[in-house]
Amino acid sequence: MNVILFGPPGAGKGTQGALLAERLGIPRIATGDLLREALRQGTPLGQQARTYMEAGELVPDDVILGMVREALDSEAARGGAIFDGFPRTLAQAEALDDLLRAMGRDIDAVLVLEVPDDVIVKRLSGRRTCSGCSAVYNIYYDPPRTADVCDRCGGVLVARADDNEETVRRRLEVFREQTEPVLAHYQRTGRPVIRVPGDRPVPEVQDALANALDAVSRKTVA
Ligand code: ADP
Ligand code: AMP
Repeated sequence: MNVILFGPPGAGKGTQGALLAERLGIPRIATGDLLREALRQGTPLGQQARTYMEAGELVPDDVILGMVREALDSEAARGGAIFDGFPRTLAQAEALDDLLRAMGRDIDAVLVLEVPDDVIVKRLSGRRTCSGCSAVYNIYYDPPRTADVCDRCGGVLVARADDNEETVRRRLEVFREQTEPVLAHYQRTGRPVIRVPGDRPVPEVQDALANALDAVSRKTVA
């Protein structure tokens, strides 16, 4: 399956995408994670992306598309992928259509996580990520057993530089202005677009997403 997990920053795409990837046995292609890894490694691509990310603006399409092309070429993604944080512009969505078409594949579903802005701001102010294994926690909703220490690997938990309130507000604006209109493209081209309330406990949201995908698969088979 090729599934797009769509929603504003902080909607829970990473959290839910990791669970879905495990459930479906396909990789999650998260452009934000790929960019942060490039930043950490100090690659030219990372350097190019840094100022955009720090300001909460979108990184140019050509940079993103190069990364996605490479990720889709990998052996692991032959059976499909979950796209998280991508596409974020109409140009990215059209390029993804072309890429998949060339591989004889298509988007099977667009799952939209809906979460109110005030919840997003609180979630992102409490998000902590492990600097070792990238596991995601929340000091309000899903705290680690010991403050600032990862339960899984003992790594140090850090807040993302772009999770400060000012940048979060800008990222939300960018989402409304540049990313939300991408949904119209999927509706226009007849792909299933399914909206799921994201302001529920993690397992409940996961069940709703899995049920939505089951319904899509049943329709495809019938
Ligand atoms: P995104 O990938 O969409 O930016 P994340 O999955 O990183 O979002 O989630 C943002 C923050 O909200 C994280 O700290 C995560 O632990 C927390 N979170 C995710 N889903 C839920 C939920 N259903 N209820 C409460 N907190 C959540
Ligand atoms: P995320 O981890 O998805 O919240 O993304 C963090 C930041 O990375 C965003 O605010 C953008 O600056 C950049 N980014 C991630 N994915 C994309 C994308 N598909 N297109 C443009 N910029 C992106």
